[in-house]
Amino acid sequence: MSSDQLWRVAVDAPLPEALTYSYSGPLERGQLVNVPLGKRKVKGLVLGPADKPPEFEVKSIESLDDEYAALPDAFVKWLEWLSQYYLHPIGQVVQSAFPPLKKTDKQRASKRPPVIPLLESDTFLDLTTEQRTCFESISKHSNFSTHLLFGVTGSGKTEVYLRLLEKVLAEGKRGLVLVPEISLTPQLIQRFARRFGDKIAALHSQLTDRERTNQWWDIVEGRKSILIGARSALFCPIKDLGLIIVDEEHEPSFKQDEKLKYNGRDAAVVMGKLMNCPVVLGSATPSLETWKNAVEGKYHLHTLKKRVANRSLPEIEVIDLRKLKADDDEQKKIVQKYSHLPFWLSADLYERMHEVLDQGDQAALFLNRRGVAQMVVCPSCGHTRECPNCDISLTLHAHSHLVCHYCDYHENFKTKCPDCSEGQLEAIGLGTELLETDLTRLFPGKKIARADRDEIQSRADLEELIHQMETGEIDILVGTQMIAKGLDFPKLKLVGLVLADVGFNLPDFRATERSFQLITQMSGRSGRHVKEGENPGRVIIQTFNAEHDSITFARNHDYEGFAKHELEMRAQLHYPPIGRLVSFRIQGPHLGKVEETAGLLARRAYALKAQYPQYNSIEVLGPAEAPLSKLRGQFRYHLLVKSTQANAANPFSRQLLGDQDWIPSGIKILIDIDPMSL
Ligand code: ADP
Ligand code: ZN
Repeated sequence: MSSDQLWRVAVDAPLPEALTYSYSGPLERGQLVNVPLGKRKVKGLVLGPADKPPEFEVKSIESLDDEYAALPDAFVKWLEWLSQYYLHPIGQVVQSAFPPLKKTDKQRASKRPPVIPLLESDTFLDLTTEQRTCFESISKHSNFSTHLLFGVTGSGKTEVYLRLLEKVLAEGKRGLVLVPEISLTPQLIQRFARRFGDKIAALHSQLTDRERTNQWWDIVEGRKSILIGARSALFCPIKDLGLIIVDEEHEPSFKQDEKLKYNGRDAAVVMGKLMNCPVVLGSATPSLETWKNAVEGKYHLHTLKKRVANRSLPEIEVIDLRKLKADDDEQKKIVQKYSHLPFWLSADLYERMHEVLDQGDQAALFLNRRGVAQMVVCPSCGHTRECPNCDISLTLHAHSHLVCHYCDYHENFKTKCPDCSEGQLEAIGLGTELLETDLTRLFPGKKIARADRDEIQSRADLEELIHQMETGEIDILVGTQMIAKGLDFPKLKLVGLVLADVGFNLPDFRATERSFQLITQMSGRSGRHVKEGENPGRVIIQTFNAEHDSITFARNHDYEGFAKHELEMRAQLHYPPIGRLVSFRIQGPHLGKVEETAGLLARRAYALKAQYPQYNSIEVLGPAEAPLSKLRGQFRYHLLVKSTQANAANPFSRQLLGDQDWIPSGIKILIDIDPMSL
């Protein structure tokens, strides 16, 4: 008899469960260890003692990774929650929390290049009355509680975060700040660095391995007190965590869309709960999930209604792109005068651009080219075609038929508009490059810059662009929504949304919410520094759907009205946040096999539903082709599971997948709990 104890270890391998290993010495939950797996040696995390010996021979733990102190119990619980909730193997969850590399640089700490160039320090601003109220009511809490800081663009949310962090640091605790895409928000990081100097560590995708390793250890070993990073920063175990802030909490990029498909915002709230610290979610356009929780009193709601220093919100004008019928002479003249303009540029936007540029200010044109769906629109009446079952836009395939990507509804694509029976439906393709070319011709002598994924590939590119905007070298900025986030340019007085409709027609039940958020965020870039009594910034929204809900509410700066209306729509069709949604993607290299497996999965789902009364509330949609029906040689189908009962979706999905040995070889089924897009 050996005195070895048995331990459950989550190993870095695609196994559904933790494995059992033996060890003779002292060991505790949360310890990082090296274990044999087949012929390999892998890292693992000790979850706790094993209840009973397995039926096969047990190998022993080779060594402890003693560079690394055992993870706190609350942190291990958080990792276990991720695995349970998102139905992802525990071993593949825990590996995200392993240290990036050995801490080889520790001795050379003094010679490290700074990751955040040290900037002139800033003093704290005097808070406005609204900011003070929010700060005081949030900072009353030191235990777990979730707070929504709902403040219009430019209302000074960041200033509230800074004060909250200052207080947490004064109490000897640490803070975690999550931002959507850190490489796109250099201005925000600089503001933090100016206030907190070298107490800040940052983790983002643009760091070298060595920089990442240094930042990671600086936080873990307590040399730095504030970690600012993208969602993955959650996996860095922070001692004495006193506050978690999630800025722009509505941003879809908080959701990881591969491997462990977690939502960083939701995971942050769970972390706050397990670590018993307050969580602050900030946004001008909160996600409906968060808003619902705030309205129902699960989250504390704190509101900033005004921009700071009585700066006014921009004036929003909506331009209908549906073709003007030139039936009188007056209109004919107008049409003639502007006949040199491309189809995407209205006379109003064109004239406003001239006005702003003549005053030496800047204009920015945004075009959100998200998604792959081509927009089908009637140029006379603005009609777009939606699925009769699902209330989402149909997608054009092969120029011949329209498809619903939720329920697989099909119809032939008729070019004659079924609504006004006058216009011919057109598929519109438009991109930022075309905009730039046209603008160069229309505004000779003006400096035009383009910001999209093709042009801005690194943090340096973006910093250069920001610098040129700040110094006024750029007159007209053309870009996608990637530059709509958090940027603050004093001279930017006009924002044009070239074709707001691009977002409306995504095959996604969140399309309206997305559009409302984008319109509000992009509008929020205009006239941020206009003083009281000066002309406010302007926003021009061009659209074929001037009556679209997202536009009507956004032009009135009415988030609450929008949220109420949209929640009612969601409730009718049991979409989140009223119902829960889970998507199963079936993919493989052979179309026939993918279709067959998708059908098999659907039959399993119906059988489960019929068998268990607790699954009454479950609705099964599809299988249907996924919106990207083929990607990198893989055919893709999906099946959606909707549930009005929050606690039914997860066990149903777990049971539906089962032990997975029914899945034919060559086919993969990927599960997404609370998908952000489909
Ligand atoms: P938000 O994050 O809500 O969009 P910011 O925190 O970026 O708003 O604030 C908008 C602008 O107002 C920034 O230029 C910021 O420096 C300034 N500002 C914020 N709070 C104050 C304050 N209390 N006094 C003066 N200026 C402020
Ligand atoms: Zn449908």
